[in-house]
Amino acid sequence: MRQLILSLGTLATVLIVTSFSVLCSVALTSTLCFFEQCEAPKIAIATAIAIPSFVAPLATWPLVGLVMQIDSLEKEMRMMATYDQLTGLVTRQAIFDQIEQVMHLAEREQSHISVHAVDLDRFKDINDTHGHAGGDEVLKSFAITVKEVLRKSDYLGRIGGEEFIIFLPDTSQVAALALSERLHQAIRQSVVAYEQSSIRYSASIGLVSVLPSADVSLEEILKRADQLLYIAKRQGRACTVSSNG
Ligand code: GH3
Ligand code: MG
Ligand code: MG
Repeated sequence: MRQLILSLGTLATVLIVTSFSVLCSVALTSTLCFFEQCEAPKIAIATAIAIPSFVAPLATWPLVGLVMQIDSLEKEMRMMATYDQLTGLVTRQAIFDQIEQVMHLAEREQSHISVHAVDLDRFKDINDTHGHAGGDEVLKSFAITVKEVLRKSDYLGRIGGEEFIIFLPDTSQVAALALSERLHQAIRQSVVAYEQSSIRYSASIGLVSVLPSADVSLEEILKRADQLLYIAKRQGRACTVSSNG
């Protein structure tokens, strides 16, 4: 019903409901007049047209407006659940859903997938030095930099504060490592201009490449990528640690 109202629009819906009300009212009044021999049938029919012509739009217009408002609020909420407001990247649940879908496909096609768990280095220090707004600029810039490095078919999501997931379908470990090297290079060259400062930053990456199968869940892959990411942190940050399988 809502879809019908949305596709018709407010004016058409109100006109249709009003016409239908008038028709029903006239049919009912005519039937009553026919059986009950009313004294002034013309006045009765005129009243049967006038009242719904006036009342139906008054009642329908705000109701249709409410349906439209609910629909746009629902769309807005869906957008907010799917896209991160700051970076415009997909959110945690949305990226996991996307990866899960592609993993099923990769399992059927027996093609490798690669997952990068990315965490920006010493981000607390960036916030402490340049303020939270400066940190926000780095997050936005990072999202743009990664997108420039990725292919159209790759996936990128923000899963937490300064934590991201990059998912590469149909990509072996060698190719995924090459991409992560390009990403480190792009980050090294990136300078985020904020107020009077030029902010530089780096990222650590845990990379897992696997041939998807029923025995390997996305949860396990992400856990492994996280473990590798923390090894990268211990190894001095600004690097990638990877494992095959
Ligand atoms: P490490 O290299 O070990 O990852 O150190 P770190 O400082 O990056 O790690 P830590 O987890 O201690 O700090 C992450 C910081 O990210 C703390 C938090 O305030 C900040 N943060 C989280 N979300 C946002 C955000 O949306 N904007 C900004 N500016 N900062 C954020
Ligand atoms: Mg972190
Ligand atoms: Mg960090």
